[in-house]
Amino acid sequence: MNDAPPTLAGTRRLGWLLALPKLAIVLLVAALLSLLALLHHNEQDEERAALIKDVLWLEQNLRFHLSGNEEQLQQLALDMAETGEAQRLFRLRAGHMLKNAPDIAQILWLDAQRRVIDALPSPLPPEQDKETFGPTATADAFERARLLSKASYSEPFLLPGGRAHIAMLTPVFAERRLTGMLLAVYPLEALLSSQVPWWFTEKYNVEIVDDNDVRYATKSRIAGPGNQSYDIPFDPPGYGLKLRVTSYRTPDNWLPRLLIAAIIALAGGVFWSLWLVRDLMRKRSRAEEALRAEHAFRAAMEDSLTVGMRARDLDGRVIYVNPAFCRMTGFTAEELVGAAPPMPYWAPEQMEQTYAMHQTVLAGAAPQDGFEITFMRKDGERFQALVYEAKLIDGKGKHTGWMASVLDITERKHAEELARQQQEQLQFTARLVTMGEMASTLAHELNQPLAAIASYNTGCLNLLAQEATRAEDLRPALEKIGHQAQRAGKIIRRVHDFVRKSEPKRAPCAIGEVIEDCLGFIEPEARKRQVRIDCRIPPLPPVLADRVMLEQVLLNLIRNGMDAMADTPVRDRMLKLSAMEEGGQLRIAVTDNGCGIAPEIRDRLFTAFFSTKPDGMGIGLSICRSIVEFHRGRLWSEDNPDSPTGSGTIFAFTLPLEAP
Ligand code: ADP
Repeated sequence: MNDAPPTLAGTRRLGWLLALPKLAIVLLVAALLSLLALLHHNEQDEERAALIKDVLWLEQNLRFHLSGNEEQLQQLALDMAETGEAQRLFRLRAGHMLKNAPDIAQILWLDAQRRVIDALPSPLPPEQDKETFGPTATADAFERARLLSKASYSEPFLLPGGRAHIAMLTPVFAERRLTGMLLAVYPLEALLSSQVPWWFTEKYNVEIVDDNDVRYATKSRIAGPGNQSYDIPFDPPGYGLKLRVTSYRTPDNWLPRLLIAAIIALAGGVFWSLWLVRDLMRKRSRAEEALRAEHAFRAAMEDSLTVGMRARDLDGRVIYVNPAFCRMTGFTAEELVGAAPPMPYWAPEQMEQTYAMHQTVLAGAAPQDGFEITFMRKDGERFQALVYEAKLIDGKGKHTGWMASVLDITERKHAEELARQQQEQLQFTARLVTMGEMASTLAHELNQPLAAIASYNTGCLNLLAQEATRAEDLRPALEKIGHQAQRAGKIIRRVHDFVRKSEPKRAPCAIGEVIEDCLGFIEPEARKRQVRIDCRIPPLPPVLADRVMLEQVLLNLIRNGMDAMADTPVRDRMLKLSAMEEGGQLRIAVTDNGCGIAPEIRDRLFTAFFSTKPDGMGIGLSICRSIVEFHRGRLWSEDNPDSPTGSGTIFAFTLPLEAP
């Protein structure tokens, strides 16, 4: 099919057209999602910055607090070294310190050999405490404080109960000699709970961990998974301890999620509508394709038509002509479309009739079975057109004009005329043939009056030779001569009438007279063939017919009947002529008692040149039928049921009875 390439191109273009918005939507969704991600990232960054700031603040706060305590303890150490009442001073100041710093669980006073001299709040630590603070957990820190002559922190250690502690040791020097050590014990939990403010714990979880992520203390108010965390060294005390602050996940922020969901839903919606549009466009392009194919098909059909098509609107203006109509008239479609009466193809000499017919068509009264009209080609040549008009109905069922199919029937008319002339010629020839066949009988018929005239003439001459003859005596003989001459003249006139070549013309004629004339013609032959003719014709109304043609039909049928009775016994050679009125028609029948018609040839009787006779031409019945049909009647044959011989035929024909 030649419409395949446009289809392929169309589909490709459609694909492109649909791919572009899809791509745009994907890009838009990607842009929106990355915007959201960026916002989220920024938020995280901000959160982290706030976290770091808060952590730094907390670390600083702890450091201040510890160093404050450190200073107080150092001051106490100094004062204790200088005073004689060291124990009283220790008790007073340590008690004071414990009151101000609730995170310090205990303050101990050790001697240079790490034995506990005094301790607050418990007066003297139990034995295990001695062990704990003395040689083991704080031994390193003790040594460092002694060596560095300044405060030092211990590693975290666990006390019974499993709670982690650290200790801060401050050496007491008297005259450059280590005389003792002050030791403040911080339970790490208590340190956190006293130093981390409430608002901090609302936001963060604070932990103290070491390098191995062993957790020593924690403070938080809210449970739940963490979001971001930040580690900062917890120094002092050092030893790889870290403050780990984890921000809580902020309560679910539904707005971004809602936004993402909305974006995805909208994108989905757009894809869905695109899909619908694609479906619609596909359907449309399919419909367009079908329309194109239909249009091409129609155009091809219209171009191949040999029938001219012409459409006019309700005002009679030409709105469409097909190529065949253009070829027929010689005008182009551009010249014809839009034309209003008088049309360029109307013949000027028939303008009035054509315009009247045009009005009839517009009034919706055009003949159903078409009408003939003379049109004119562009070169002035006239042609006969057969036009069928039909209503033009649009897609909504509205009557919008008239569609005509126009056939150029000039050729057909010409052929018909030729056929008619040939038929006429044939009829004429047939009549001549009939005459030829009847010539001897007619000659014999003519001979009788001529012989009578001759003998009367001799009689007259004889009378004239006698002297006594009066003119009066000659009268009867002369009258007889005249009568015989008329009889001969009549025979000649009949022959002349019959063979005269004339145009068929219909005139009212009485069928009785026509039959009588025929009988006058045929009687001599009937006598010769010993056929009796039974003819009883009632008075009948006249028929509109060509008399000579009717005679020709009757003569043919009568002669055929007589031919058929050639072998019939003489007594049965009877030919019956009848005529009667029947259902508004005249029915004329020729009945014989002849040989009848064999069923196998009945169908072929009326075909030209069919004959069963050795010298027959076989055109008689065919001419009879065309003459009867020319008079809008019917000719047929049937068996004669009343024949005394058992066989015989009736040839009957009808003629319409109508007012002339
Ligand atoms: P043709 O008389 O020259 O044969 P027609 O056309 O008049 O030609 O008749 C054709 C044939 O029809 C005849 O040869 C004959 O066989 C048959 N036919 C015609 N009229 C009769 C009839 N009355 N009875 C029997 N046969 C007939």
